[in-house]
Amino acid sequence: MNNIYLYPHLHSGDKPIETVTEYEEALAEYKKFESTKSSLSKEEQMDFWKKEIELRGKLIYSRSPVVLVAICPFCDKKVYANLKSGVFSLDENFWLLDYDDAKNAYYETICTHLFAIDGALHLQNNPPPVELKGFKSMRFKITMASEVPFSKPRILNKEGVIAVIHSISIAEKYIGYSVSYFSPNKISQNEFCIGWARQEYVDHLDGISNATFSGKRSDKHDYELLPWVKKEKLFWLEGNVDTIHLAKHEKNFPYSNIQGRKHPYAIENGKITNYPDPKETPPKTEIETFMPSIG
Ligand SMILES: [Zn+2]
Repeated sequence: MNNIYLYPHLHSGDKPIETVTEYEEALAEYKKFESTKSSLSKEEQMDFWKKEIELRGKLIYSRSPVVLVAICPFCDKKVYANLKSGVFSLDENFWLLDYDDAKNAYYETICTHLFAIDGALHLQNNPPPVELKGFKSMRFKITMASEVPFSKPRILNKEGVIAVIHSISIAEKYIGYSVSYFSPNKISQNEFCIGWARQEYVDHLDGISNATFSGKRSDKHDYELLPWVKKEKLFWLEGNVDTIHLAKHEKNFPYSNIQGRKHPYAIENGKITNYPDPKETPPKTEIETFMPSIG
């Protein structure tokens, strides 16, 4: 299946990036500019940081897509994840960030039923990238929940909750499996999920702007997906850009028996480290409050 893209940040007259070759051409142009830094005067270097961000935005980010990961089973809204340049390379910030609110999707495509987007990344036996530095990233390591798609029984067992699975071609050689959870009823923030490619959940506490709510990944993964399909708790996307729709008839389920790492792993310095699968434990949460502003 081909990835389905939207380009909400594209400036008029600019060409969207659609392939890894086009991405690499844009990156080479950016690197040409970056290499001029040493020839600049001290005064000019002061300005360089700002110019780098502007150029990266113009050459790469504004021309990169958000990617369809799910259709809401309750309101039919199409949800597009903020993969952006991360759909063309693992050496991009989508894969390197530590935390988010598990709803890392283009804001205009998020509906009230979306609870979390989690997922897996299958390396397809390709060697991992040697260098991971992203763009001004503080982190040089990717940590993934698994290679094989999985469900989180703690969330999926809740009344009415439905998960939607989809596969996305990443860098034209890996496969990303997104698993998005939708609920007809509001789920308490205390029961948060960790998002796709993240280690932590961080969000503002509902209704209180000067508090941040955070927690770490601890959910048990269930790699046996067919029983969830039979219970009509797990749907998937089928079709092309014009016909894409939710599917749920178990005889066509395409995500059974996928071989690969069924546990978390990390990529760092070109090496893979495997970690044991998480045990079922309640989410550990923490609330940080800041001084309320006065006046
Ligand atoms: Zn919805």
